[in-house]
Amino acid sequence: MSLPIPELAPAQHPLERLPEEWAEVLGGWGEPRYRGLQVFQWIHQRGVLDPDAMTNLPKTLRARLREEGLGLPLTVSHLHPSNDGTRKLLVRMLDGSEVETVLIPQLEKVDPDADGDSDESDEQGTATAAWVPGTVVTQCISSQVGCAMGCVFCASGVMGLKRHMTAAEIVSQVLLGRSLTTEREHLRNIVLMGMGEPLHNYDNVARALVLLTHPEGLALGKRRVTLSTSGLVPQIDRLAQDFDGQVQLAISLHAVTDERRSSIMPINRKHSLDDLMACLKRYPLPKRRRITIEYTLIRGVNDDLRDADALVKLLRGVPAKVNLIPMNPIADSALAAPREDGVTAFRERLFERGLSAFVRKTRGDDIAAACGQLAYHGDDGRRRRLPVA
Ligand code: SF4
Repeated sequence: MSLPIPELAPAQHPLERLPEEWAEVLGGWGEPRYRGLQVFQWIHQRGVLDPDAMTNLPKTLRARLREEGLGLPLTVSHLHPSNDGTRKLLVRMLDGSEVETVLIPQLEKVDPDADGDSDESDEQGTATAAWVPGTVVTQCISSQVGCAMGCVFCASGVMGLKRHMTAAEIVSQVLLGRSLTTEREHLRNIVLMGMGEPLHNYDNVARALVLLTHPEGLALGKRRVTLSTSGLVPQIDRLAQDFDGQVQLAISLHAVTDERRSSIMPINRKHSLDDLMACLKRYPLPKRRRITIEYTLIRGVNDDLRDADALVKLLRGVPAKVNLIPMNPIADSALAAPREDGVTAFRERLFERGLSAFVRKTRGDDIAAACGQLAYHGDDGRRRRLPVA
């Protein structure tokens, strides 16, 4: 099911056009309007950008499309594969700016005894299950070059905002990602959790969401697109209205008091926890769906059991599930990862108090693909030191 289509700013690039916008353009070229849908389907449904391969279009139109230029506005400058199947792509845009996007195959459990010849076993000699990359792939995409929000635990925040990404650049990450999936993989989920605060680039992100979920395009279904935000209250309200609550929401919360949250997430000085919670309570969530609350556990900063209790209290009345993210070690950072037993105790405390919580499996550690670690090298190629909260 596609998302509702809100009023959008005009398309700036051919890859941003919706079928009806293509129909308009093609009409101006003297082509029948129905060809607009065909061009859109070639690009967004089949991932074909070479007009010569658009075999149901007349030669004259293919030549005109070649002139128009349908190339992606970005290229892969580095591809880092990880041991767990995760692939991090560093992509370079036409102005030389770089962002990262990550392909993450969902892990599937396999029983090593299934073929009867496994020699994997634990200390008791019992065969142990293994997790292997499966066929369903989630892609994490970026929405800005850098980020203006300045969260102290986040590499993008330290970099500052360089510029917004265009809708064509945002969508092109997915076109590119899909072309790099293997035959047995299916790109099913998109998460806007890469570099940037998506709601700070609202117009371009809104158009990208419409393109990615268009039934004649990639047709990503509801529940398949998750937007992660640091909590820009007016823009969450706008998203709720524009997309009727169909966009899955994830909130980077990370602290339970205004004082603490403001010290690690400056946006909290503008939109307090009370304002944010009130906004989440009015978000028009479809039935049986919940908002994901992202809570990065940082040792000695927010991982005390009293924080867990305060989190339960804060989220009362919000349809929420909590995603606990043990902070990934960042080189040169004064912030430390939580202890493993501390993470378990925190999760259990939430659970005991009736709050559903899970610990995010860390993926792609060896390529620094986890949240807040994308493109954290400076323009000079040197890592930045993160400040202490
Ligand atoms: S956590 Fe998100 S909002 Fe905060 S600085 Fe990083 S990218 Fe920006």
